Amino acid sequence: MRDLMDIRETILAREKANLSSLAACAADTCGREIPEPEDNIRTVYMRDRDRIIHSKAFRRLKHKTQVFISPGSDHYRTRLTHTLEVNQIAKTIGRALNLNLDLIEAIALAHDVGHTPFAHCGEEVLNMRMQEGFKHNENSLRVLKRIEAHGNRRGLNLTREVLDGVLNHSGFSASGKALTLEGQIIRFADKIAYVQHDIDDTIRAGLLEEKDLPAKYTDVLGHSLSDRLTTLVEDLVQEGLALSLGPGREKPKLSFSQPVHEALTGLRAFLFKEVYTGDVCQKERERASFVVDFLFSHYLKHPEKMPDFYQQIAVLEGRERGVADYISGMTDNFCVALYRDLTMPRSFIG
Ligand code: MG
Repeated sequence: MRDLMDIRETILAREKANLSSLAACAADTCGREIPEPEDNIRTVYMRDRDRIIHSKAFRRLKHKTQVFISPGSDHYRTRLTHTLEVNQIAKTIGRALNLNLDLIEAIALAHDVGHTPFAHCGEEVLNMRMQEGFKHNENSLRVLKRIEAHGNRRGLNLTREVLDGVLNHSGFSASGKALTLEGQIIRFADKIAYVQHDIDDTIRAGLLEEKDLPAKYTDVLGHSLSDRLTTLVEDLVQEGLALSLGPGREKPKLSFSQPVHEALTGLRAFLFKEVYTGDVCQKERERASFVVDFLFSHYLKHPEKMPDFYQQIAVLEGRERGVADYISGMTDNFCVALYRDLTMPRSFIG
């Protein structure tokens, strides 16, 4: 039997020797909040990725909305398939720039675990109902640090680089905010993925045709899903290849080229107007918001009806927080089933 103890050391040495000077090598991690003994084989980022995949919050992404609420076909994106597309796009960019793919994968798979049922309309309801507001990226951090369990304690105890990448994945300003290039890439890969796949799903739903997209943007980005993805990925790679460490060895900020940034921002604004807040989505959003709002009021009034864990949070951190943690973790399906159970006479629930 071979002693496995030196495998991780070999992987760490290989990262140092082969990755770009801009990469976040696992050997240089800022570490975990609570120090842990090292694994024989896996680096810290490989372990983080595995903890995320094994989490319940990750599995629930399969029944959380991306844009279309409970669409009548299996071919629409869900929050889980969105996450996988972000991971794939980010890894292509990361591979081209010779960055740390384990860190990229860990952040990509974790970035949306804090999303509410019914996507942004659930988020808006919780944001209105919570005194301190509610943002899905901050909630992803909370899920990873407070709600999910690892071993016999709460929190997955992930590395600072993964948590930083998750917290800084949202927002649409021009340049990346995360401390690592790997984290910055997730922010761009998220936008590349959702703008393009939401267009694709909207076309699938018959609400839009390719020719309806404003030519001033598609002339820059491309006239098909595949062409646009290629343009966006290649643009970011070109910009990334031109970057270097600052004089104090600080990590540079990544961004799209100006024309590509403007075209993607314009296309996103078009989607907001025509799709996200358009008539068809809006009616379903109002219904979904009503359900989330109803459940929030119900559990605020009856915290004793929540599972023990969320009751404890309500006692320790306030009732609103406990209710928000319980509701934000729900899948769309669970949310609707609960609503029906609470509001319909038993004989009507088939
Ligand atoms: Mg996302």
